[in-house]
Formats: sequence, C-alpha cells, structure tokens
Amino acid sequence: MPKEISRRALIEMSVAGAAALAAAEAKAVDRSALPNDQKIGFAVVGLGKLSQGQIIPGLRKARSAKLAAVVSGHPDKAKRIAAAEGLPADAIYSYEDYDRIAKDPRIQIVYIVLPNSMHAEYTIRALKAGKHVLCEKPMATNITDCEAMIAAAKAANRKLMIAYRCHYEPKNLEAMRRIRAGAIGKPRLIVTDMGRQADPSDPSDAWRLDRKMAGDGALGDMGVYGVSASRYLLNEEPVEVRAWADTEKKDPRFATTDDLIAWQFRFPSGAICNGSTSYNYNATMAFEVWGEKARLRADPGCFYGGNRFAMVDGSRFTELDIAEIDQFAREMDWMADAVRGKAPLVSPGEEGLQDMRLMKAITDSLARGGAPIRTDWGYKRAVDPAAVVDIVA
Ligand code: NAD
Repeated sequence: MPKEISRRALIEMSVAGAAALAAAEAKAVDRSALPNDQKIGFAVVGLGKLSQGQIIPGLRKARSAKLAAVVSGHPDKAKRIAAAEGLPADAIYSYEDYDRIAKDPRIQIVYIVLPNSMHAEYTIRALKAGKHVLCEKPMATNITDCEAMIAAAKAANRKLMIAYRCHYEPKNLEAMRRIRAGAIGKPRLIVTDMGRQADPSDPSDAWRLDRKMAGDGALGDMGVYGVSASRYLLNEEPVEVRAWADTEKKDPRFATTDDLIAWQFRFPSGAICNGSTSYNYNATMAFEVWGEKARLRADPGCFYGGNRFAMVDGSRFTELDIAEIDQFAREMDWMADAVRGKAPLVSPGEEGLQDMRLMKAITDSLARGGAPIRTDWGYKRAVDPAAVVDIVA
C-alpha cells in the first residue's frame, strides 16, 4: 500500500481519525505469523458454502487465528472437515451441545456463518458462553435482534465484530484513503450496485429467497455492501433515504422478497448516493464516486478477488496496482488482534446495526411509495477504517 498516500491521507483526516492512526502506529503489531500455540482459536458455526470455500481455507493462511472447533448439524460433514483440518473428535459440536463451548478453552472466538435469521440466537449463546463473536453480514434480519446482540456483548464484556470484509480489504482501504486525502476533490455523487442472479435450486440460495430466514432478500445479502460502502467511502452518514422497488410477481423466486430495489441516500455534505440491489440482474459488486476533480471507479469492488479500482479523469483511466490478499484471513486476523488487544474493533455490532437501520429505512420508504425517510439519528462510526488499517498487515 503506497505510504505516500497514507501520509497525504493523514493530513486530510479528521482530528479523531489522525489521533486513532497515531495511536495505532504507536502499538503496531509484529506482522509475522504467531507460533501455532499462540494463535487465537476460532469455532466456525455452520459448515456451508462460505465456511468451506473461504473461511476454513482463510484460517489456514491466517497469521494470528486458527481453526479450533466446528459446529454443525451434519455429523458426517463435520467429521470429514474436522479430520481434514487435523481437529480432534472432541472439537466437533452440534447445535444441541453448542453451549458446551463455554468449557472449551481452545475456543476464544466463535464465527457465526449461518442463515441470517439464526445469527442473533447463535451469537447471543456464544457470548453467554464467554466467547467473543465474529458474525457474518447482514448482522441479523431486524433491528431488535441487532440490539439484543450488542446488549449481550456488553453484558458478557466480550467483543462482537461484524464480518464486513471490505473494511479490511486493501483496495477498498486505498479508495477510502484517496477520497479522505482529496484525490477526487469534494465527493458529489456515489453509485453502488450489488446483486446477482439467485438460483433457487441451490440450497444456499433457497433460504436467501425466504424472507423468514434471510430478511430483505437481496438487500440484506448484497445491497448491504452498497449501504456500507457509501458510508465508509464518504465517511459520513445518510440523513435521508428514498427507495423504489420492482418485482416480477410471476417469478417464483420472489414470492416473499423484493427483486430490484433502488434507493437514494442524501448525505450532510450534499453528496447523493444512488444504490441498487437485485437477485435478478447480472452479477455485480461495483461502486463509483464522482468528485469535483476526478472519479474513483471500482468494478468490481467487493468480490472475493479480482477487484479493479481505477482513478478516472474524463476518459483517462489509471488502474490502481495493489496486491490481492486473502480477505477472509485478514478479517479473522484483525478480530484475533482485537481480542489480543492489538487492534481496535473497526466493524463492531454498532456498524451492523446502523446498516440494518438504514435498510429498514429503505423498506419503510418502499412501503410508503418512495416517501423520504429521515435517518439523521446521530450515529457516528467509532473508528474510521482508513485511519487504523496500518496496524494489521
Ligand atoms: P449456506 O447455505 O451455504 O450455509 C449455511 C449453513 O447453515 C449450512 O451449512 C447449513 O447446513 C446450516 N444451517 C443450519 N440450520 C439451517 C437451516 N435451518 N436452514 C438452512 N441452513 C441451515 O450459506 P452461506 O452462503 O455459507 O452463507 C452463510 C452466511 O454467510 C450468511 O449470513 C451470508 O450472508 C454470509 N455470507 C457472507 C459472505 C461474505 O463475503 N462475507 C459471502 C457469503 C455468505
């Protein structure tokens, strides 16, 4: 990551952001891998697509985190995965005996990778068992559950982090730094488009199309990346929201959730965000920020890899040359370092709650035919990701 930008960004940063960076640099961690017996143990709850495809492989590469246990409702799958990862038989838990993790000192962090409607219950049970929790996005399916999760973390005096991998991804971070440093001038317009085609024959998508399990369908699953990106790119919070939806009622995929949702956020600086999400358009996770002087384009911007970021001046594109990392390893290392007291929580439960409240404002506007909904309830992010990322490589 270019240090020159980092320094320039520092000059432009808010006083709070600069102070956070100074504090972070003062206690910068050793970036070499810890010995295995000093790594922080993770229990992965739910062994579906993401766990098998990204999280467990990410833990193999992590610097300060390791897989310590698995929790699953499928004993055969759990045994196969545990054996492949070198875990002993007593590191396999079922959903029924999950609360026994309280007595397992190998587990310090529980990573919740279940369908969205199950996040709150399994997060709260882990917190009550005295464990820290990393919970997948969206944090839950409603505001009440998010608040209960935050309260449970406070009551247990444990950390609760939402797995917003783009908060820790070098290209997204560089975009934040450049915008903070004035590289595009004052941001005026931001566009975020996050969606894909949902496939109901895939069990992973079947529950995503069921409002009871998924919440607001594409909005909670994909749109949340755009809601979050507009906030972390601009480093401010929307004060007003309007939204519109279009759903093909004959399409059996959309019996309980909306298909295409588009929204507008108005920010205090005057910037406007046009966001969209859908389970019925060609796969995209893209955003673009138009400033007075230049444009920052990320297309794709939030895929697991292969993201392409460019600075654009009129028709001149300059692609940013930033090395790829394993986003999941990095995010889990960050959580492990937070538990070790070496890094601040950048995406705590409050961040997940803010996105949930904004998504609720979007659906409230939908329900009222696109009426404006005030969202100026005074939320302020505790830590700017761009200000502290130098702590963890
Ligand atoms: P998945 O369907 O592949 O996995 C879910 C797991 O939960 C499965 O192992 C399933 O057996 C288990 N499960 C337990 N009870 C269940 C029930 N009642 N119904 C259905 N499954 C049940 O889903 P996934 O794609 O791995 O997603 C899991 C979570 O991870 C979701 O919250 C999703 O939003 C999140 N996710 C995040 C990212 C990211 O980039 N951060 C990417 C994909 C998914």
